[in-house]
Amino acid sequence: MTKLNIVLFGPPGAGKGTQSEKLIERYQLVHLSTGDIFRANIKGETELGKLAKSYMDRGALVPDEVTIKMLESEVNKHPEANGFIFDGFPRTGAQALALDAFLESHETGIAAMLALEVPEEELRARLKNRALTSGRADDANPDVIQNRINVYNNETAPVAEYYRAQGKYQGVVGVGTIQEISERLFDAIDQHA
Ligand code: AMP
Repeated sequence: MTKLNIVLFGPPGAGKGTQSEKLIERYQLVHLSTGDIFRANIKGETELGKLAKSYMDRGALVPDEVTIKMLESEVNKHPEANGFIFDGFPRTGAQALALDAFLESHETGIAAMLALEVPEEELRARLKNRALTSGRADDANPDVIQNRINVYNNETAPVAEYYRAQGKYQGVVGVGTIQEISERLFDAIDQHA
């Protein structure tokens, strides 16, 4: 069976984590969120966690080499997976290239990039709200939030072009109820499955 590998893309606060939950449930996929994995490493006080924290606290990207290596080792832990939801990865051109090469070496590839589109004002409001419950240091500080949005616009948004050039990019309106947005994602995925 061919694997269904989806990149769930979008700025911080777009709803990638929330929607990933819906997608893994419906399609029985493995959810790989690089942010979640870094946070688990911070909690576990690993060397990787210490390194990642120094970047995450500023809203900067963890270096590509470290992030790519970690992602590949996580994929390798699930040889039987039906496919993966990549959430928060790739975030740079180098990560996108590495992911394609890696998946190709496993005789698979990305089916689609689904990009949640949410206006910047709405993102700011959501992150402010999330800060009340997430316990995330990077949600609590407006300067760090701004930096994450800037990093997204400068370094991550161009990754969409990489997938667009392959005919794999699909924008999805990321405003509405959680269920409405899920339905849009399901429709988009069902075109590729
Ligand atoms: P997220 O949970 O996706 O919002 O990610 C939180 C933070 O983790 C980001 O601001 C980055 O510091 C770091 N991070 C997560 N994914 C990546 C990635 N693919 N490349 C580099 N840094 C990342």
